Amino acid sequence: MALLSQLKATALHWLLPQTCCHCREDLASDWREPLCPACLSKLVPAEPPFCLRCAEPLLNGKILCPACSGHPCACRTIRAAFLYKGPVPALAHGFKYRGRQDAAQAAGRWMAGHFARFGELSGCDALVPVPLHPRRLRERGYNQAEILARELSRATGLPMKNLLERPKATKPQWDLDQEARRQNLSGAFVAKPQVKGLRLLIIDDICTSGSSLEECGRALHRAGASRVAAFVFARQTLSAP
Ligand SMILES: [Zn+2]
Ligand SMILES: [Zn+2]
Repeated sequence: MALLSQLKATALHWLLPQTCCHCREDLASDWREPLCPACLSKLVPAEPPFCLRCAEPLLNGKILCPACSGHPCACRTIRAAFLYKGPVPALAHGFKYRGRQDAAQAAGRWMAGHFARFGELSGCDALVPVPLHPRRLRERGYNQAEILARELSRATGLPMKNLLERPKATKPQWDLDQEARRQNLSGAFVAKPQVKGLRLLIIDDICTSGSSLEECGRALHRAGASRVAAFVFARQTLSAP
């Protein structure tokens, strides 16, 4: 059976060679990653020094970045496996807009490989993917955050639970400033009643300003979650090069 599926995969590869999400080179038929070995080696882990709350890289010796200073956050800790640079933007484009579910699965496995670095994320009851609005889910056919969470669940044994819903369609966030992002996302997420008393880890693909994660955190706390943190595949940095 294993041989048969191997043969099938090889035949499929010859008919339809998979390409590296980043450099678009054809991948070897026995290579099972969405990036070629050279691009894979260019992933940059997100490591300190960074803001203790949101993992924004900090080079000035401070503990918190300006955005996190002076006010409490619903999502108390954000950690990322990688920085949003090198092959990551192309990989994310692959799983968001080019149907590359295999890229999201690999990203989830790689995230799982970095999870143990962050002891501050341990002790949670469930992994909660950031949901897509139902219309977006229909267009894409899958939720990439759910694929990441499923892979992380497989590796860690922590259950994945879809405890957030996204009833409100929102505008794309990329050209909005911080305040406009907050308004755009206000009320976008609703948590299910089962979250009461649970310690939850939100899972998402990319963190840019952290507004979506914060809005998810608010919704989970409103419904009675006891603690909320987040783990994302990649951190897009606002200040650092
Ligand atoms: Zn490549
Ligand atoms: Zn911060």
